[in-house]
Amino acid sequence: MLIESMVRRTLGVKRHVVKRVFEEDGGLVVELDIRRGWRQPCGTCGTMSRVRDRLATRDWRHVPLWGIPTTMRYAPARVRCEHCGRILVEAIPWSQGKCRLSTGLIWLLAAWCKLLPWDQVANLFGVHWSTVAAAVQQAVAYGLEHRDLDGVLYIGIDEISRRKGHVYVTNVYDLKHKRLIWSGEGRSLETLARFFNEHEEALKGRIKGICCDMWQPYIDMIKLRLPDAVLVFDKFHVVQKLLQAVDTVRRDEAHELKKTNPELLKKTRHIWLKNPENLTDKQRARLGHLEQLNLRTNRAYLLKESFREFWSYDTKEGACKFLKKWFWWATHSRLKPIRNFAWTMRNHLDDLLNYFELRIDNGAVEGMNNKAKVVSHRCYGFRTATYYITALYHCLGQLPEPQLVHKFL
Ligand SMILES: [Zn+2]
Repeated sequence: MLIESMVRRTLGVKRHVVKRVFEEDGGLVVELDIRRGWRQPCGTCGTMSRVRDRLATRDWRHVPLWGIPTTMRYAPARVRCEHCGRILVEAIPWSQGKCRLSTGLIWLLAAWCKLLPWDQVANLFGVHWSTVAAAVQQAVAYGLEHRDLDGVLYIGIDEISRRKGHVYVTNVYDLKHKRLIWSGEGRSLETLARFFNEHEEALKGRIKGICCDMWQPYIDMIKLRLPDAVLVFDKFHVVQKLLQAVDTVRRDEAHELKKTNPELLKKTRHIWLKNPENLTDKQRARLGHLEQLNLRTNRAYLLKESFREFWSYDTKEGACKFLKKWFWWATHSRLKPIRNFAWTMRNHLDDLLNYFELRIDNGAVEGMNNKAKVVSHRCYGFRTATYYITALYHCLGQLPEPQLVHKFL
């Protein structure tokens, strides 16, 4: 019985035998059985126990053998477990809970989903899209259950949108290990509350720093839920806010110049927003020309450029002194958007200066957010945020996998 023994070896089963391999509906069916007289481990505690009876036959989709869709068919045994004192179902080596996919197939599909869009993986293996989705969900469920959050010291909170602002997802990252630790639909206070409800106990007393956007409801909740952690405003968000202020000044001024000199500020957005060292020669020349005119946008630009010094200080005191000076310039600039920005900084002074106590920023997150966008494109066919979040955990969570995975890859 060469084929049966070959199939048994590919499956890697020990306490079970391949009874028969046959064709059915264009696929292979591998019929398995227990070894007569062998004890089987209890599905609950693992104690080797005597087999009592059998349940009805069940099918599992398995990794295609020789390119042919393959099903495993088996009637699970029930054992009399002395340790549990009850009759329980055996631990089936290729099965995870009630899932109708074999463990091997789950991990094989899931591994490909890290590289390819889900629908392509479905085509490649000749399975339905929902089978692929189920496999990734199983892999993520396993990973979340077995992962270790002990080393999480600094977390970053950020949000991303899918489909141009239609679906928002709030992500919590482990900044040190650059991994996603939590993802939830929405970007409201309720979203963040859900994160805390799930992880507060585990994280309390361990988290040293949290990096987030300057959004008051978030700030209040973080201070309430993790009072011992240092809250640091994310540098990138702060800079982004300043750039938005500069851009508002430019837009307003361009609007005013519409009648007299409509060409002057046209297509200059990036010139003002980029760091000067990143400008092209052409952009630099144009900036040189614009700087000689007495433009409000130029004043805003100079204030933006001088603000960069803020991040270079070694001490809180130095940075604070600088910020006070900058605040005076900004509030006397007669530029409303810049003034508003300056006041926001002033109102959040302590949390802003925390950066000099704990230098964390969401820089690592930016890279992961880019990856998250790729995942979003990959999940073409995702109908709900739930699948998107599953895919995010799968690709960005650095989730653990069982040892067997490598066998099938
Ligand atoms: Zn037991």
